[in-house]
Amino acid sequence: MPKSMLEKAKTLEPANPNKSTGIFGGKSSGILNWNDIAYPHWYKMYKRLIGNYWQADEVNMSGDVKQFATLTDKEKEAYLKIIGLLSTLDGPQTRTALLLSLYATDASVQSIMAVIAQQEAVHNESYSYVLSSVVSFDEQNESFQLGRKDPILLKRNAIITEQYNAFVEEPTIENILKTLVYTSLLEGMFFYSGFAFFYNLARQNKMVGTSTMISYINRDELEHGRFISELFRATLAENPEYNTAEFNDWVYESFKTSVELEIEWSNYVLAEVEGIDLNEMAGYIKYRANKMLRMMGLSEIYPEHVDNPMKWIRAYVDNFDGTKTDFFEQKSRQYTKTSDLNGFDDL
Ligand code: ZN
Ligand code: ZN
Repeated sequence: MPKSMLEKAKTLEPANPNKSTGIFGGKSSGILNWNDIAYPHWYKMYKRLIGNYWQADEVNMSGDVKQFATLTDKEKEAYLKIIGLLSTLDGPQTRTALLLSLYATDASVQSIMAVIAQQEAVHNESYSYVLSSVVSFDEQNESFQLGRKDPILLKRNAIITEQYNAFVEEPTIENILKTLVYTSLLEGMFFYSGFAFFYNLARQNKMVGTSTMISYINRDELEHGRFISELFRATLAENPEYNTAEFNDWVYESFKTSVELEIEWSNYVLAEVEGIDLNEMAGYIKYRANKMLRMMGLSEIYPEHVDNPMKWIRAYVDNFDGTKTDFFEQKSRQYTKTSDLNGFDDL
């Protein structure tokens, strides 16, 4: 297949129509009328994203400040390693959202990506915020060095690093599609064993401030995963020459490798953490992979993991009632019934 490099979209091009003729490599003027866009239902996605607005320092960390010292050594170590991991995933997301936006020739995609990039920036801020609440400056820095130094984390992130940088060097439709695959993996799977660790602490009434913050991040990532998988399907439909058996095989192989690496990572970081069953966690990772594949219009690859084996997790991300009130009161969310779900049934 010939590689044709995409050019960055023009900022304003009055000769082009307002309604985009193609998401990447199409034509658009740069003027956005949300009532006349190529994919009208994306306006709802934009509104949902905007509706999730929050800021790191809205979450009260005073309970966690006192409680951190009472965690077991294993819990403290996992806490710092997982914040280190999450920061290495959210850092590149801020920029990848921008890069996708620079090549998108659809102003609605540019706007949605701007909102996603803003939220990723808040996620990054929140890791600095929680760490500065519970540990010394030196320990904070150590945690943020893990993404550069920890061999298992480096191994786990090597393929994302390679693919994200390939898009910078060679902005082609193929690399955009592959970047969207890794972005879906990231938004829909890579974060989730880390999230589970904090929810497991919260269900023991530990570090509830941190887990509240993680719930906010989790809610954002679910929306991002939803939009990115839509963007993937639409881009593939507009460029059917890439919709080949070979490309599908590449996607499935990327998912399988990523699942294996994620299980290896979770065994490493969550070993000996009380309350987490590593087999259940492996099942949960496969369940999340299936879920993302379905959203991307592909088939499940783990037929024995179509249901969530860690149902207790749902209570921690599903406790959104359209207001932030219960979060600021920081009451125990131990007793939220999973039958009281209000739309966030994705976990
Ligand atoms: Zn994020
Ligand atoms: Zn995200």
